[in-house]
Amino acid sequence: MNFFITATDTDVGKTFVTTSLLLALQRLKIKSIALKPVQTGCEKIHDKMLAPDVAIYCSAVAENNIQPCYSFQLPASPHYAAQKENQVIDIKNILSYIKQYSCDYEIGLIEGAGGIFVPLNQQETMLDLMRQCNLPIILVCPNRLGILNNILMNIEILKANSLTCAGLILNFDKKDDEICKCNREYLQEHIDIPIVAIPNFSATNAIEIASDYLQDFVQDYLLSYIDNSLPENNIDTKLDTQFDREHLWHPYTHALNPLPTYPVISANRHLIHIEGKDLIDGMSSWWCALHGYNNSEINRAAIKQLSQLSHVMFAGLTHKPAIDLGKKLLELLPDFNRIFYSDSGSVSVEVALKLALQYQQSSGKDKILTVLGGYHGDTQGAMSVCDPNDGMHAIFNGVLAKHIFAPRPLCRFDQEFNPDSVAEIESIFENHKEKIAAVIIEPIVQGAGGMWFYHPQYLQILRKLCDKYGALLIFDEIATGFGRTGKMFAYQYANVVPDIICIGKGLSAGYMTFAATLCQEHIAQKISHNNGVFMHGPTFMANPLACAISLKSIELLEKSNWQENVMRISNTMKKHLSKCKSLPETLDVRVLGAIGVVELSEYIDIATIQEFFVSRNVWIRPFGKLIYLMPPFIIPNDDLIYLCQVIFEAIQHKKYKGASC
Ligand code: PMP
Repeated sequence: MNFFITATDTDVGKTFVTTSLLLALQRLKIKSIALKPVQTGCEKIHDKMLAPDVAIYCSAVAENNIQPCYSFQLPASPHYAAQKENQVIDIKNILSYIKQYSCDYEIGLIEGAGGIFVPLNQQETMLDLMRQCNLPIILVCPNRLGILNNILMNIEILKANSLTCAGLILNFDKKDDEICKCNREYLQEHIDIPIVAIPNFSATNAIEIASDYLQDFVQDYLLSYIDNSLPENNIDTKLDTQFDREHLWHPYTHALNPLPTYPVISANRHLIHIEGKDLIDGMSSWWCALHGYNNSEINRAAIKQLSQLSHVMFAGLTHKPAIDLGKKLLELLPDFNRIFYSDSGSVSVEVALKLALQYQQSSGKDKILTVLGGYHGDTQGAMSVCDPNDGMHAIFNGVLAKHIFAPRPLCRFDQEFNPDSVAEIESIFENHKEKIAAVIIEPIVQGAGGMWFYHPQYLQILRKLCDKYGALLIFDEIATGFGRTGKMFAYQYANVVPDIICIGKGLSAGYMTFAATLCQEHIAQKISHNNGVFMHGPTFMANPLACAISLKSIELLEKSNWQENVMRISNTMKKHLSKCKSLPETLDVRVLGAIGVVELSEYIDIATIQEFFVSRNVWIRPFGKLIYLMPPFIIPNDDLIYLCQVIFEAIQHKKYKGASC
């Protein structure tokens, strides 16, 4: 387990604090190390190029005298000091340096250089390094006049980048000084981060005294992080892939001749680690992992919940995570009033359909109207409203409930609305008005049924038709919810409200299988009049662990700059993915929010393209004729541009064609 130590400024005693923390850890017999990967103002000391303060302090602590990853003579900003020696700092080298030197230790203290916006090279700052390390941060700052603004800004920036601040060390503190006291008290009241104040020492044993001050912080806070983390060298990297091939069914796959699977060891931020390499993730694990992987705040929320209550039946019992998440969901979706928690997107669709059919029971309406190109899940009811022709469930058509299908909404999102595009659904509605209980549709984006983006006005007309004919409107926001399209929920593009909404996937940020169906109050009132009950109740309904994780994920989303991030991803894909339009094999390129799609004129051979993508260190999983990106919102721009380039290359060099072609 590593921590990243940064400061509000240069020369505020960061190296001194790091060394004192290291001593405090070693006194507790924790095998620990401090590393300062980038050092400027270096001199030759004991055959190594080191910054003098690092050398002095670290020699005071056992086993800590490692050559930095980058050392420069000029005492200046790293980008400039490097430039003076004709070098360029590369974050990837720093990451492997940290991994190499800290892997044998229980705790590594990784010290930055200067503050968070100190440039490392012309494009990247310390913050980029911190984001890629994704470690809990310890912020060091001097306790003096004017520091509050600086500290609060730093904390806000860390939060906005989804980084956890594990502790605040106030250096050069004067216990009875009025300003120091007022700073301490204000911070204690206003920030929810452990704070330690260390006085200014001139004694020769200053490090020992400072480590006394830090002892409780180390014991109560830092060590709780290692209790909760699994050292990487404990992870079993050798998987029995033969067992996997012979006994485990993977999604939509041949049992006897399955497509290849790549064994994953771990995942961190937007990187999936397979043996020997990291793959840049373009899929967010089927659109769930909004914040990427191994997010320290979600991890901690999960662990906290796990140690309290991981599961309990929801019949006759309730709990705080379900209630707190419920309140948060109603805050996000204020038009709804009742929540039914379930365990997967498909089940939430079953619940929505059952709610609608039960609501309409006395009216005799028992058909669902939907559109072609739709996808709503793999369970029986959900399959019955998926595209029956081109969809993946066509072989079950004979046994599925017969519902009513209108054409795919053809009016593109990015073009002017054509009223002709609703003519057919209008006449279908008119012809079946006595039978249509509800309409179900994925708002704005049809996902697994073709990655198609249609015009918001289509939804407005659907709402009017439902009202006119007394049908309910169900929006399946399982793939689109939680910011993916650029709005928190895609239906907000249309300014209409459905009667029932299904949410899942991003709800639990890729951590747990979880979903929910929300409805307006009039649905609950009608179903429950005359003592009617709603007959559904999954074993894992409102699982507390999933609720706690979802709540933390929504909080993280709200406090991050997700709109800006989605906009950045959108603009980058518009610029770089659109280059695929110049290739003759490309039929269409479309981008909406953090979804980018390249539609080819031919079917893609998945095994071939997958192998190519993995050889180029990216994880992209196309289907049909579509290669698409739905990256985690935290993906850095360079990596996103690289994903777009690799897609271009795959098409240009025909890496989507199978061996027989
Ligand atoms: N509806 C939509 C729109 C989906 O995209 C999906 C999953 N791809 C589902 C329902 C089914 O969700 P799950 O796989 O969690 O059952």
